[in-house]
Amino acid sequence: MFWDKEWETLSRAELEQWQLRRLRSTVQHVARHVPFYQQKCAERGLGARAILSLKDIRRLPFTTREDLRATYPFGLLAVDRADVIRLHTSSGTTGKPKAMFFSKKDVAGAADLIARCLVMTGVGRGDVLQNMMTYGLFTGALVMHYGAEKVGLMVIPAGPGNSERQCLLMQDFRTTVFHTTPSYALYLAQFLKERGIDPRRDLSLRKAYIGAEPYSDETRRKIESALGVKVYNSYGLSEMNGPGVAFECEHQQGMHLWEDHFLIEIVDPATGNPVPDGEEGEMVLTTLRREAMPILRYRTRDITSVIRTPCPCGRTHRRIRRITGRADDMLIVRGVNLYPQQIERVLMSLPAVGHSYQIHLEGLDELIVKVELADASFDGRVEHLVNLQREIVERLRADLLVKPRVELLPPGSLPVSEGKAKRVFDKRIL
Ligand code: ADP
Ligand code: ZN
Repeated sequence: MFWDKEWETLSRAELEQWQLRRLRSTVQHVARHVPFYQQKCAERGLGARAILSLKDIRRLPFTTREDLRATYPFGLLAVDRADVIRLHTSSGTTGKPKAMFFSKKDVAGAADLIARCLVMTGVGRGDVLQNMMTYGLFTGALVMHYGAEKVGLMVIPAGPGNSERQCLLMQDFRTTVFHTTPSYALYLAQFLKERGIDPRRDLSLRKAYIGAEPYSDETRRKIESALGVKVYNSYGLSEMNGPGVAFECEHQQGMHLWEDHFLIEIVDPATGNPVPDGEEGEMVLTTLRREAMPILRYRTRDITSVIRTPCPCGRTHRRIRRITGRADDMLIVRGVNLYPQQIERVLMSLPAVGHSYQIHLEGLDELIVKVELADASFDGRVEHLVNLQREIVERLRADLLVKPRVELLPPGSLPVSEGKAKRVFDKRIL
């Protein structure tokens, strides 16, 4: 099933031709209206005419998160303020937030991409979407909401948290699809279990759109088996509209990235140079259709690779692999590089482990992993817990090449965050 078959199945040649045309007009647009890009292009002696092929994108400057913060609030706006119909911002955890502007066309464009994503996963009229992302300045909920309405789903703007109410809504309105973070999905599974609600027997859930945080295939499987749904990976970032940038189709082998809207490059995060075709690196995205706030070569910090083979679903937009982490998430412990996701993968493959964990770095270089156990494993038998702890330490050590200290906790002892979960606490004295 397609939302917009013509665009979704353009031949590669047509797609690339369109990309080139849009790249040139985007460069022209920002060079005319955004002093930040005017200056960067002038420094390089560049104009739209310098872009003769898609490869020439490498001559354009990168845009970083720091650039977005430095130009806050209006620095990257490319249209008259009166033409902006929506503002979103993205987390201001480290200083100034980033402001994202949408024109009427941009709001419609973002909704259209969500519509493609939803139809691609086999939902449509008659489906009920419970949207458990945060409504408000964050793009996660609203962008999904508009797209789902466009397709004709009934949308329940539930927002995050309040699991009691989530549960009632699911029961009373027969929710078929929900949208949330991996951490909340796992928490909800546990919550339903405690209340004696069996999702397969008592609820109508079919599918879940899970994103906004990196997670592993092990976590996907855990959510699928606990909630009786098919989980689709959903990738997006506020700087590129929010959700709907890349999404899994029914084949669930990587996420189609909508290449008529975004031009993708994979670069070496250290040098910014392109990596060989198909290899892993930092994803860099350029908007091709955005009006109010186009962005050239945005350094997402997200690590992934492009799948080169065509997808059996017939869509020609290339797929990216599951994000393995953010370039700045990498931890160095006793000289060894590791990503929080490696730890997650190991933990979630163990049935004894519950839905939550934390990674603490303390003292000089000590790695402490706090793990919530699943209900059944926390039976209070000391000997059982000692064995379990030993097993987790061994599994982590084998994978990470660093021996952690593992603390086992009863289910429900770690805090549940609304929105994105905080997993890593680095309190080392370095
Ligand atoms: P912030 O940058 O403040 O976290 P965003 O909401 O824009 O705010 O977050 C976007 C980021 O979330 C992405 O750059 C990526 O790191 C992460 N993310 C979103 N969806 C996924 C996903 N499906 N898998 C892995 N990471 C994801
Ligand atoms: Zn596909």
